[in-house]
Amino acid sequence: MCGVFGAVTLDGDAARIAAVGLFALQHRGQESAGLAASDGEQIMLYKDLGLVAQVLDERRLPSLPGQLAIAHCRYSTTGSTVWENAQPTLRLGPRRALAIGHNGNLVNTRELLERLPGGRSRLPASTDTELLTALLADEPAADTVDALVRVLPHVRGAYSLVVLDERRLVGVRDPHGYRPLVLGRLPAADGAAGSRDGPHADAGWVLASETAALDVVGAEHVRDVEPGEMVILEPGAAPRSVRFAPARPALCVFELIYFARPDSTMEGRNLYEVRRRMGMELAAEHPVEADLVMPVPDTGGPAAAGYAEASGLPYREGMYRNRYAGRTFIQPSQAMRHRGVTVKLNPLREVVRGRRLVVVDDSIVRGTTTRSIVGLLRRAGAAEVHVRISAPPIVHPCFYGIDTQIETELIAASQSVEGIRDFIGADSLGFLSIPGLLRALDLPPAGFCFACFDGRYPEPVPYDAARRKFVLEEAPAARG
Ligand code: SF4
Repeated sequence: MCGVFGAVTLDGDAARIAAVGLFALQHRGQESAGLAASDGEQIMLYKDLGLVAQVLDERRLPSLPGQLAIAHCRYSTTGSTVWENAQPTLRLGPRRALAIGHNGNLVNTRELLERLPGGRSRLPASTDTELLTALLADEPAADTVDALVRVLPHVRGAYSLVVLDERRLVGVRDPHGYRPLVLGRLPAADGAAGSRDGPHADAGWVLASETAALDVVGAEHVRDVEPGEMVILEPGAAPRSVRFAPARPALCVFELIYFARPDSTMEGRNLYEVRRRMGMELAAEHPVEADLVMPVPDTGGPAAAGYAEASGLPYREGMYRNRYAGRTFIQPSQAMRHRGVTVKLNPLREVVRGRRLVVVDDSIVRGTTTRSIVGLLRRAGAAEVHVRISAPPIVHPCFYGIDTQIETELIAASQSVEGIRDFIGADSLGFLSIPGLLRALDLPPAGFCFACFDGRYPEPVPYDAARRKFVLEEAPAARG
């Protein structure tokens, strides 16, 4: 996951727009947040562990002036959750200064490390993004765009980037476009100089992981950054496009299933509607006699609504989710877990007691969360618990930016549907089929990555180091 945002403005307030935009992307990463801004001469950076609103506040913004800014919130897929690994990265090299925000995961990190003179010892952090930043800052090229054109052909895996130097912002999407990246236009305020026809027709341009972040800053969605394309943004200029590789689109289908916000649009589809249709297909494939349909909050909501609509069963909220329990919050001890304690979820006893429930969620990874939920509902008095999942079983790990990199962690890789049902303790279990998912998407399958369902990875994955999250922490500290 991870969220990225970039802003170019005519005034000096790009950091404020980037911070507000990043706040809309908080769901994509809760471990750290950061913002880098340029006033045309130097790049200033502020980053820390924590949520966007904790890291970036009114007191910080005056120290981040300028017409250019990028921002990032992190969900770690390479490297530990430590301050050094927070983004944006910043490299003040002899050739150029660069800051980068990265969504995705590179799959040839060890190979890339071989290209860096001095190797691991030159990296202040253990992320693939830090390595990429160092390679770009070192590259003997005329400017940042030229450096990107030279370095990116050696880079494999998933990367949607916002790249900042002193004078420009560059949005980059890998040739497969695993992760989304969209371009938006900030309209000039009424009475401001310029018109749509003039060189200063717009107040600025923004790049974001999702369209929902464009909405919150008042930007209009112009288009997606294409796979294999970079878009160069400079204050007062129209965007420039440079294609650095042919497009071989393979957008992560899980972005549509649950990662991205339901109020975002991808491939021309509103994601709430896509998920509602997944729920309708799920109801057709796995009907059951029950009293009500409830979502696992928050992401199961649209699919549960679709299941209820198609099945004619009433829809109810049957659990409360504590939205402030992030990934890094204190976890219950083993003894607390044995007593059925969960930090995040609490059932609404009056809703579930004595009822036959259809519980809709978007995925089962390890199965432990679903097992806790079924246990909570039973202890709250549910008569029956029928689990329905609005995606096919995840049987293969992801190497492109989702932290399911070990096959043995995936319950569906080793268990049948009946085995999973038994493990989670449900009365019945049904997964949406791949054909059902395709019907709900109503888009050509060729443009998507479905590898965690069918194992057909869009590009070969080197088996050794790229399969591990801590590849750079395990690499020799000094090299060549
Ligand atoms: S392997 Fe799965 S989670 Fe990873 S990019 Fe492909 S569809 Fe998405």
